[in-house]
Parts: sequence; structure tokens; C-alpha cells
Amino acid sequence: MFPDFTLRYARLPAHFYEPFTPVPVAAPRLFAFNRPLAEELGFDVTAFDEAQATAWFSGNEVPPGAEPLAQAYAGHQFGGFNPRLGDGRAVLLGEVSDREGRLRDIQLKGAGRTPFSRGGDGRSPLGPVLREYLVSEAMHRLGVPTTRALAAVTSGERVFRGLPEPGAILTRVASSHIRVGTFQYFAARGDQEAVKTLADLVIERHYPSLREQEEGERYLALVAAVQARQIRLVAQWMGLGFIHGVMNTDNCSIAGETIDYGPCAFMEAYDPRTVFSSVDDGGRYAYRNQPWIAQWNLARLAETLLLLIDADQERGIARATELIQAFEPAYEAEWLAVFRAKLGLMTDEEGDRELVEALLEALHAGRADFTLSFRYLAEALEADAPSLLELFENDAALRRWLPRWRERLTREGVDASVIAERIRAVNPLYIPRNHQVAAAIAAAEDDDFAPFESLRQVLAEPFAAQPGRDAYARPAAPAERVFRTFC
Ligand code: AMP
Ligand code: MG
Ligand code: MG
Repeated sequence: MFPDFTLRYARLPAHFYEPFTPVPVAAPRLFAFNRPLAEELGFDVTAFDEAQATAWFSGNEVPPGAEPLAQAYAGHQFGGFNPRLGDGRAVLLGEVSDREGRLRDIQLKGAGRTPFSRGGDGRSPLGPVLREYLVSEAMHRLGVPTTRALAAVTSGERVFRGLPEPGAILTRVASSHIRVGTFQYFAARGDQEAVKTLADLVIERHYPSLREQEEGERYLALVAAVQARQIRLVAQWMGLGFIHGVMNTDNCSIAGETIDYGPCAFMEAYDPRTVFSSVDDGGRYAYRNQPWIAQWNLARLAETLLLLIDADQERGIARATELIQAFEPAYEAEWLAVFRAKLGLMTDEEGDRELVEALLEALHAGRADFTLSFRYLAEALEADAPSLLELFENDAALRRWLPRWRERLTREGVDASVIAERIRAVNPLYIPRNHQVAAAIAAAEDDDFAPFESLRQVLAEPFAAQPGRDAYARPAAPAERVFRTFC
């Protein structure tokens, strides 16, 4: 059933990774298998055999042709540099070529202690596996570049995070698991040859058009290309109220995908300072800081490539600095494009940024749900929709804003029904709300996977109203609110 492995990473020099065979678990049970994704990857799903799949996706058996390994990487964690992190609880089985001929990594997360585990147990509790499964698949359906979830298995073993919890293993699919931190690992060792090998691999895999550039331009162009994808990615996060939670450089994908879903969550009542992660006391990774952290991470990437960017170090620094400074205007433009679309606008006008900002201020003042406030604009084109007003504790600012917006819409030159359709096409009705994810996790910990399965199904169609599923669209009631997430 497994497609052939390419072993692109395994063929790199030995110091790029440690060979590592997953550590078997006691009593694996496959509770989720993503059939459409498996087909996309070239699995022969007609030959699906549950016992065999369980053995593979738990790490109890290595699929034919795989040469499993733990990748080496470094990273800035909350701003402090650690020269050696690496896959401490993950194992890369290898790459497969998907139906479009693109290489995709297949990784088991929670597969046992590796040479990079330091003090950790190499395992993952069920909760974070379910959260990553639900949220990464929801992000994909929301149109955001992301790693995917192929399968999930409970291990039949307990892991200890203070209290004992059921253990689980996630099979994660990524365009690659190469991170800013992978470059930092080699740069910190002064291993220029490895930095170049890695950069050339990244160009081949993710940015093949750069091969046509001259050597002297190619590596700065690589940073520019990664930056463009990160800008697009973070602007999309901001438009959805998504808070990653741990934007360390080791969790920043070179391919521009959302990666490493830890304490991530979607904001409900709009507040730019929102933080969920239990370990982010200083609010470094708060909603409003995400673009500037991405820019900071890009600067760390550029540093690792300085000697390739320009033989003259002063000039290399100047060119890289100029590029990283271009992040800000490019991001501001991307952000505006995202929020213009959320308001149903397709034309550009001078005052649009102010119009968006005024709505966000109204949301903040009214402690209104971010997701539904935008969604229900589709009903507020002609009359003050009660469903929209109801979201606001105080709707004075919103009432002042609505006529401004409607007046602006007249210059779009299309019917209200067209605007409503535009709004519903980009503003989801269903997002993975924290309390629902938490409820699905709590039930699964008691061996009831039905809430997980229902939530997964709802989130597969985030933009279409689903009859009988109103409860999934609603924000948490005060007693249901979840303020902290854990990884
Ligand atoms: P993360 O917070 O998932 O981005 O992980 C940061 C680093 O800690 C990575 O090197 C992980 O491999 C490592 N790590 C996280 N959890 C564990 C664990 N339970 N056992 C071993 N290593 C871990
Ligand atoms: Mg990580
Ligand atoms: Mg992680």
C-alpha cells in the first residue's frame, strides 16, 4: 500500500541527521486515517489493511524502502539560541512523490527517544496529536499552506506530563521539514559547505525557478522567496485570527507552511494582545506580534546565508538588511489585501486601511467574536443584522462603522448578493474553536472518539453553512472558555 520512498534527505551527508528506528509501542490502535490525503500521496488505498497500517503508523514496523532518521536542527526558542535541538520525538520515514510529482515528507511524531531527545521521553500525549490533526486539516480546508495529518494512532501506553495521559503518534506530511533552524544548525558550526548543500536542496525542492539565477543573486533571492511565502502565510493567519503560539526559528518552515501545531489556537473575542500558550508569559508570540516575529526569523535565516549572498561581508550584510527591511511594506500590503477581501472589497481605495482598522477597533471595543463578526457582515449589507449586533457587548462603534462600509461598497459596482457571496467565500463559519477541540480531546481520553470525528467533519467544510451544526459555529460560552493551551 505504501508508495515508494525517495530517500532524498537520507542521501545527504551523515551529519545532517541521526539514523533512528521508531521505538515500538505496546498496543497501537489506528483511530484516524486520512484517505483523500493518502490517495493524493500515491497510496494504494484499495489495498488498505488495518493491521498493517496500524503497524506502520505506530512505528512498530518500518514500511518497505524507508530509512528512518531524526533530522538535526538548531533554533532560537523565545529569542534564546540553542545550537542543537533536532527531532527529539519525531522520525522522518522518507519522502514520497505525490500525484503532482512533488516530494512530500512522511514523519511520525511521538515515535520514541532519539539522539536529540535530551531530557524528553520522545513521546506525545493524545491531546496534542488530536489538536494537530484537527487544526492542521482545518487550516488546509481554510486555504492556508500547512503540514497535513495522514494518520493517528493511540499507543496503548501512558505518557507523563505531570499526570499520566494516553500516548499517541501522529503521521505528519510536509512539503519538507526544513526549517530556519536547520540552516542555523550548520551556520552555528561554521559548516559553510553544509549550508550550501542545504540551500541547494531547498532551491531544488521548493524554489526551482531560482536555479536560473546567477550564483551571486541566487541565495539572496532564496531569502526573498522564503520571505514572500512567510508574508503570505502570516497575513493569512492574521485574517483568520490564528495564533501559532511558538514561532521559534525551529518552527518556521522554509517551504512556507504552517508547521508544528503546539499550543496554537484561534482567537474568539478580538484583542490583538491575545496569547494562549501556557509558556508564553511575556506574550512574545501574541496575535499582533506574529508578523514581526516572522520578520525576525527571516533575519536569522539571512544571517546563515551571508557568505553565500556576497563574498564581501559588508556588502552582504547591506543587501540582506535591505531585503529584510522590505518585509514590513510587503506585509502591510498583503495584510490589507486579506482584510479588503474580508470586507467584500475587490477594488482599492485610499481609505481602505482606515476602514479596516476602524472595524477592528469596533470589534475590540465590543469584545466581539472575530470570526463571526466578519462572517455576519454578509447579512448586514442592507439592514443591521441582529446576529451581527448580538456578537457585540457594546455596538456603538459598529453602528457608526456600518454606514461608512456600505457607502464604500456602492463603489464596488456589484449587487449586494455578489458582495455577500464574496464575504462568505473568505470568512469561515466554522473554525477549530478551542473549547470544542478541548472537548474532543477530553472525550477521546475516555476512549470516545465520536466528538473528534464530528468536529473533523464539520471543519472539512468551513465556508458552507451545515444544517443542524449551529453549535459548532458559536463562540465558547463564558463557562466553556479555554484561555490556556499546552504543547
Ligand atoms: P517543539 O516545542 O515541539 O517545537 O520542540 C522543541 C524541541 O524539543 C525539539 O527539538 C523537539 O524535538 C524537542 N521535544 C519536544 N518534546 C519532546 C519530547 N517529549 N521528547 C523529546 N524531545 C522533545
Ligand atoms: Mg518544533
Ligand atoms: Mg512541536
